[in-house]
Amino acid sequence: MERITQRAYAKINIGLDVLRRRADGYHEVKMIMQTVDLYDELILEKRKQPGIALRTDNGELPLDGDNLICKAAELLIREKDIQEGVNIMLTKRIPIAAGMAGGSADAAATLRGLNELFGLGYSVPELQTLGVKLGADIPYCIVGGTMLSEGIGEILTPLPAPPAAYLVIAKPDINVSTAYVYGNLHADRLTWHPDIDGMIDALRKQDLGGITGRLGNVLETVTVREYPVIERIRELLKMQGAENALMSGSGPTVFGIFKEKETAERAAEAVECGKLAKQIFVTTFC
Ligand code: ATP
Repeated sequence: MERITQRAYAKINIGLDVLRRRADGYHEVKMIMQTVDLYDELILEKRKQPGIALRTDNGELPLDGDNLICKAAELLIREKDIQEGVNIMLTKRIPIAAGMAGGSADAAATLRGLNELFGLGYSVPELQTLGVKLGADIPYCIVGGTMLSEGIGEILTPLPAPPAAYLVIAKPDINVSTAYVYGNLHADRLTWHPDIDGMIDALRKQDLGGITGRLGNVLETVTVREYPVIERIRELLKMQGAENALMSGSGPTVFGIFKEKETAERAAEAVECGKLAKQIFVTTFC
């Protein structure tokens, strides 16, 4: 095999709780991750000369060792002492610094792709153990789907996928750093926690109302205060017929869950007309 194509799917969090801040500075989380049908595409190609050459259609991303794709490729090349090099072409669709794990998804796709391209023989758990060295969301991104994520994000339990629904995903034109949000969260002062166990129960019962009724993300306590546009998008999506709406991850992306595609499309238009977000997608869980 000389070349391989991989899809890197974005995630949203339908529930995100932070239990405590550990002595080492990491936060212990309890969150439900869900893949959505929005993905980056990576073409990975062997080449004779050593090294990694990354190209992308996105002008904002670093193309050197700061890119998580290069970090993932370097890690495998070093671990397995690979003598050949690799050309990587990234088509970027997932909004950047959005709370949708775009960089982690790209790194996971690189690990999966190079494992296959070079016949390295890593199992999925082995790839996850390697991936967590680069980021807490990478073990999840290697498999995707619906998962309970605990610890710092590396303890994963598969869950049933939610019933079919339509999503409006809207990223306002602001960049929010994950480190800033966690740094300004007072986990010990939270007065409310989302009902993650109830959400798991609702997923098992395939009860869409039980799921949407329990959407919750404690990181909104930091971001909504700082960026009121997040709240405005959330309220507009609900006014436009969303069963409910929430910020994903550390934000600023907001998603709304809809029963009907037409309602979702109209809500997306309303967000666009209100100039509340530049990147808006109508999609589904996957
Ligand atoms: P998370 O939900 O895991 O917090 P995010 O969606 O908030 O992730 P990313 O899009 O992964 O954030 O990007 C965060 C930062 O990582 C950006 O500032 C970006 O420059 C850098 N980065 C490095 N490699 C990539 C990549 N392949 N794709 C996107 N961002 C990358």
